[in-house]
Amino acid sequence: MRIFDPHIHMTSRITDDYERMYAAGVRAVVEPAFWQGQPRTNVGSFLDYFDALLGWEPYRAAQYGIQHRCALALNPKEAGDPRCAGVLAELPRYLLKDAVVAVGEVGYDSMTAREEEVFEAQLTMAAEADLPVLVHTPHRDKTAGTRRTLDVVAASGLPPERVLVDHLNELTVGMVADSGCWMGFSIYPDTKMDPDRMVAILKEYGTARMLVNSAADWGRSDPLKTRQVADAMAAAGFTADDVERVLWHNPVAFYGQSGRLALDDHPAEAPAEYAGNTIKRG
Ligand SMILES: [Zn+2]
Repeated sequence: MRIFDPHIHMTSRITDDYERMYAAGVRAVVEPAFWQGQPRTNVGSFLDYFDALLGWEPYRAAQYGIQHRCALALNPKEAGDPRCAGVLAELPRYLLKDAVVAVGEVGYDSMTAREEEVFEAQLTMAAEADLPVLVHTPHRDKTAGTRRTLDVVAASGLPPERVLVDHLNELTVGMVADSGCWMGFSIYPDTKMDPDRMVAILKEYGTARMLVNSAADWGRSDPLKTRQVADAMAAAGFTADDVERVLWHNPVAFYGQSGRLALDDHPAEAPAEYAGNTIKRG
């Protein structure tokens, strides 16, 4: 089984996770830029983070047989902080890099006017850079937030097939299905979506434009949730082709719109020493 986790924050995870992910079938990931819990106080702090997503983290992932790409953006949680506004001027040159396969994550957190401005500006940047966009939907008041998100996306003029609207649930999937955007589901250990609810949604809405991710980060989360959804799909009678469509081909198709994905479809087995940490510590 081949799995592509289209939204995971590996910077926050340990090497044991890479080993377990590889063993579960994960061969590729996209890591969107997000907030780190502790607010950043200056633009340089973002640039060092972006450089880590472009350099160190792909290198670390490769030690464990996993191909790592990233999405870059000023995240929703920090979009309203005036100390971070200068990130927008730096982003266009970062969006030119080969390992950047989307703009993201962008969108609303508290649905303020400033967040909306930053969201719109980054949708424009995505159009200019010819990149797809990963859009986060707010965790509070999700239905209203998702509706407004879709309105902003529609007004941007971006083709819906270049937009992935993430963190959906039973209440929000329908409106995104109707919009023509891709639908993302973050599967968490004890809140929001779980594998069985995900399978029920796939039964109702089908597998087209559907993406499943673990969104694992520094909070309670599980990087193997993608594999658990694959197993739940199989147990519910989905074919191996259906499972591979959702867990591999859909993310390849979505991020492939960047023209940069260029994944090795049949990556060599991880180096024999992948079970150990081959990265030298100073
Ligand atoms: Zn995220």
